[in-house]
Amino acid sequence: MIEAYCVKCKKKGQKMLNAKITKTARGGFMAKGKCPECGTTMCAVLSKEKAEKAIQNGEAEKGF
Ligand SMILES: [Zn+2]
Repeated sequence: MIEAYCVKCKKKGQKMLNAKITKTARGGFMAKGKCPECGTTMCAVLSKEKAEKAIQNGEAEKGF
């Protein structure tokens, strides 16, 4: 699972729901999804390796 910080819960390591991975203009990878507790949109910056792995594992949708 991709983990991210939720600004609303103020908690680290929230497991992202419906994660979608996109590429930034600079060639980096970003995951966007929802907090499982409050539904707030969370973002996480990922390495290329981590992004590809998450897509392969079915943890995240490929959005690029
Ligand atoms: Zn939350």
